[in-house]
Amino acid sequence: MQFLVASNNAKKLKELETILADAGIAGVELLPLSAVESYPEPVEDGRTFADNALIKARAGAQATGLVCVADDSGLAVEELNGMPGVLSARWCGAHGPDEENNRLLLGQMQHVPDERRACAFVSVCALVTPDGKEVTVEGRWPGTLLRAPQGENGFGYDPLFQPEGEKRSAAEMTPEEKNEVSHRGRALRQLVDTIAELAG
Ligand code: IMP
Repeated sequence: MQFLVASNNAKKLKELETILADAGIAGVELLPLSAVESYPEPVEDGRTFADNALIKARAGAQATGLVCVADDSGLAVEELNGMPGVLSARWCGAHGPDEENNRLLLGQMQHVPDERRACAFVSVCALVTPDGKEVTVEGRWPGTLLRAPQGENGFGYDPLFQPEGEKRSAAEMTPEEKNEVSHRGRALRQLVDTIAELAG
């Protein structure tokens, strides 16, 4: 059975593929957006990760008639009431370079003491079927906001994020180490049963 993964990021499709293979799920073919006829990209104007993930998954299911999986993610800082949140990619005002988002966030958090720097990477994955069944799952990866960037790997806020129980930042972990524990994997693993059921 074919599932559309509504993301332009090939790594996300690969990650779900690996999770399904590890769970022994057969008979599932994951299609990237490039494999289906193009359709207008929906505006991601939701107020929550779930809103945005559903906007993307609904658009994909409606346009293609396939079951569609989409995710939305970002960094939620407790001291900032969960922001940057859904605005993570454009925190500096534009779909800007990661460095600018990071610099702004560090400035805003400059005078916040160590004990109030809790944050989490959050990923919400939505699965929508063409006949309107909708499932959302959330994965959280808790940690602390560092005071300066550390490490060269990863992307986005990785250099500022120290996962709980780690001495390194997420940007000092290998991609394999990060995938094993990250928010996206934690969310995607919760979709395995639904996907297995649909694939029969
Ligand atoms: P998207 O949901 O993949 O579009 O991600 C939204 C934004 O959240 C990204 O542009 C990053 O700024 C941030 N983000 C999401 N996941 C991660 C991560 O694993 N590491 C660092 N930043 C992330």
